[in-house]
Amino acid sequence: MENFDVIVVGAGTGGSYASYILAKAGFNVALIEMKSRNKVFKTTGDAIGVHHIDRMVIKPPSDVFMIRYEGAELYSPDLSIKYVVLGKGFGLDMAKWARWLIGEAERAGVHVLDNHKVQGPIIENGSVTGIKVLKPNGSVEDFKAKVVIDASGVGAVVRSRLPREWWVSEPLLPEDVSNAYREVIQVDYEIERPEYIRIYLDSKIAPGGYWWLFPKSSNTMNIGLGLWGKLSEENGINPRHNYDRYLANSQYTRGRKIIHVGGGIVPTRRPLPSLVANGFLAVGDAAVTVNPVHGGGIGPALLSAELASKAVIDAFERNDVSERGLWKYNLEYLKAYGTKQAMLDVFRLMLQTLTDDQLNRGLRARLLTEDEVLEISERGSLELSFIDKLKIGLRLMKVPDVASKLRLALRYMNEIKSLYETYPTDPSALSSWYGKVVNAYREYARGLGLSLKWLSNA
Ligand SMILES: Cc1cc2nc3c(=O)[nH]c(=O)nc-3n(C[C@H](O)[C@H](O)[C@H](O)COP(=O)(O)OP(=O)(O)OC[C@H]3O[C@@H](n4cnc5c(N)ncnc54)[C@H](O)[C@@H]3O)c2cc1C
Repeated sequence: MENFDVIVVGAGTGGSYASYILAKAGFNVALIEMKSRNKVFKTTGDAIGVHHIDRMVIKPPSDVFMIRYEGAELYSPDLSIKYVVLGKGFGLDMAKWARWLIGEAERAGVHVLDNHKVQGPIIENGSVTGIKVLKPNGSVEDFKAKVVIDASGVGAVVRSRLPREWWVSEPLLPEDVSNAYREVIQVDYEIERPEYIRIYLDSKIAPGGYWWLFPKSSNTMNIGLGLWGKLSEENGINPRHNYDRYLANSQYTRGRKIIHVGGGIVPTRRPLPSLVANGFLAVGDAAVTVNPVHGGGIGPALLSAELASKAVIDAFERNDVSERGLWKYNLEYLKAYGTKQAMLDVFRLMLQTLTDDQLNRGLRARLLTEDEVLEISERGSLELSFIDKLKIGLRLMKVPDVASKLRLALRYMNEIKSLYETYPTDPSALSSWYGKVVNAYREYARGLGLSLKWLSNA
């Protein structure tokens, strides 16, 4: 039986980064990955905002960046309206990114155990004390640690197997995910403005989501779509089919030569009620930290890994790795990003109820300006002066049906913000706090005319 201070499950962005920080702090850390280390590669749109990279405690080498972005172009369904939202970012080479992060972790002293598949947690006396691991030789062994961090991506191999009555194990429902498919391709034309990523709203191609074209050079691109899991579940729609039908042979993919294909599930929801349990934390997709509106999760995986690692270091110093001892992670996460994530989830649900016609009219009337879209995406809220409110009020009058939904969303975003700002400092108060969150969502969903499974189960 192996014994460590901390076991991190999954050597993706979140897991490699957390294990690096913990090893640098002097802990005996194991990073357990089911794939072979040179094959760790996450299928994504490869785009990341520059602020996520700037925050990192290690600086990536330049060869992990394939292209620099200056901003995003957002298109209405009828393509008549284009918003240009400025904001710097990078297109990553995900294979090099993963190899670099794992290498840094190993150089910092992490025991990297690849080709090891985690089967689930070991729980003793109400605490996670280790994991069961299928080793490359086919045997199953117990690995023990004082703390286990689940960084295994959307499958959350440890978190999802914890007792249902633990807050951290809240299941991920189809209504809270986006199902995505994308190709990296070469085209036979020169891509205009490769320094801008493109996002297209179109409910035929990507119902409840969007399709994207992220240039990787002047003649290569990452192009794909994500659609709302609720609709996939109800109508059997599938992102791969929609890609083949609408994008594979389109004007955008002229001369298409496929470099790589793949898809995946993106968790796009409010934060879990808690990210910790006794001897346990979750980070990245395993902790559903993705931005619910645009689906960006690489940056939040880094951020949650950093905050979780700091909470672990702090808990070891106080010799208390219980749920209470690790609770600081919940508080720090909500302060740094989780509250905004919850507000964006409210906005996401409103967007998912809009028809193409409503989107066209709303964007044409510039219900929100580019600056306001940027503000919502950066802060999850809008700080409006009296004059701003007056101007928005005038714009809203032009499209009353869309305006009433937008007003409702902005109201509940504020309500959710106030609630998350009173997140309990102690686990014993979580139940009554969460009841208030559920009630707010109930009222909001009713206002939108949406039926959500988590509310009927809550
Ligand atoms: C199609 C698509 C496009 C996307 N586009 C973008 C984008 O452009 N920008 C962006 O920021 N985000 C994007 N995302 C989201 C982003 O990719 C994720 O949020 C992010 O990569 C999550 O990182 P992670 O470290 O939490 O998990 P992952 O990168 O998924 O890493 C999890 C690791 O755990 C390992 N693992 C899983 N199960 C086990 C097990 N049982 N035992 C051992 N190891 C295990 C896996 O092999 C993997 O290496 C996209 C996602 C998809 C699916």
